[in-house]
Amino acid sequence: MSTQVVSFHYTLKDKSGKVLESSEGAAPVVYLEGAGQIIPGLESELTGLKKGDKKTVNVKAKDGYGEHDSSLIMTMDKSELPSKNIKVGQQFRGEAHDGHHQVFVVTAVTDKEVTLDGNHPLAGQDLTFEVQLVERREATKEELAHGHAHGPDGHHHH
Ligand code: ZN
Repeated sequence: MSTQVVSFHYTLKDKSGKVLESSEGAAPVVYLEGAGQIIPGLESELTGLKKGDKKTVNVKAKDGYGEHDSSLIMTMDKSELPSKNIKVGQQFRGEAHDGHHQVFVVTAVTDKEVTLDGNHPLAGQDLTFEVQLVERREATKEELAHGHAHGPDGHHHH
């Protein structure tokens, strides 16, 4: 079967049933199959769905945003950071120990030091996605060449 572009709506809940995110009222999520655009535990469950199908998908942390990794939490001297006016919640792009790019969020600031956390906010959590498949179509040559899906309104990049 040819590679497809799939769009779907979702509501994401945590273990206790609290809604964390939802695409309701916004554009559906669009991805190119096999390109790693969405978490693996969700993509594998969407593979067999047809237009209009609904499904509840439980995703373990390791198949979702990964286990919480304490090596991604680091404390730095303020002088090592480019900005002087650092606040909790601020984000920085940096390199993890293995060299790949990672977004770090400031979780604590003292007079001298800043604590940064490179874990995804949903790392370590088992998640439940309620999904509805909106559309499935063949990927265009351009999408296959780029390795990602293009939006319904033409070309856009993240
Ligand atoms: Zn592109």
